[in-house]
Parts: sequence; structure tokens; C-alpha cells
Amino acid sequence: MKILTVDDSIAVREIIKNALDVLGYESVEAENGVEALRKLREDSGEILLILLDWNMPEMDGITFLRTIKQDPDFKNIPVTMVTSENEKGKIINAISEGAKNYIIKPFTQEELIQKILESLGIA
Ligand SMILES: [Mg+2]
Repeated sequence: MKILTVDDSIAVREIIKNALDVLGYESVEAENGVEALRKLREDSGEILLILLDWNMPEMDGITFLRTIKQDPDFKNIPVTMVTSENEKGKIINAISEGAKNYIIKPFTQEELIQKILESLGIA
């Protein structure tokens, strides 16, 4: 039961990892979209959810989202954006590209856990 966290900030990946530990999920991490695609191929079929930052070097979140939504192997994995991009237009853009949920930074651990459970269809 793995969850893939894609964020260029080590601090954010650490905060998310702590929440995943609380929930009992294994954390797989990538620091940009390119690395995330590689991790997806390695762990194909085992990733339950992707927590995705927007602004990252190499490949940003929205490009990564578009890429996996066109890939039959990955398009059914739910994606939750975790980003400081809080404009309505950006949120609508991400949802229309296939994101299932949206968490705006900064967030509390409680909010994060709640949104993860929601994204997994548990809460
Ligand atoms: Mg970032």
C-alpha cells in the first residue's frame, strides 16, 4: 500500500511522510515529474494515490498530471494536488486535467490526513 509524493521540497516530503506513517501507508518519493514517472514504472500497480506539487523543476505537476492521464497504465491512479497555487482558475485547471482532490499549502497534519483519506475514498 504505497502512496507517491512528488514535491521538490524535502521539508514538504517529510511532513507528508509523517502523515502517511500515521495512516500506515508506505511513502514513495520523487522530487519532480521526471523522477515520479520513473518511480511509477518501477512500482507500477502498487501506487494507490499520487500527492502532487505544482511548481517543480524538470517537469512540473500539471505536465506530469497531463502525461499520466494519457497513459493507460497510470491514468486510473487518483491524483491529489498539494500546492500553494490557490487561485480558483488554477484549481479548476488541475481538476479539468484529471486531479481528484486539492490541498492548499500550508496545511495542518489533520487537514492533510483528512484529504488523503477522502482521496482514497475512505472518508
Ligand atoms: Mg514546489
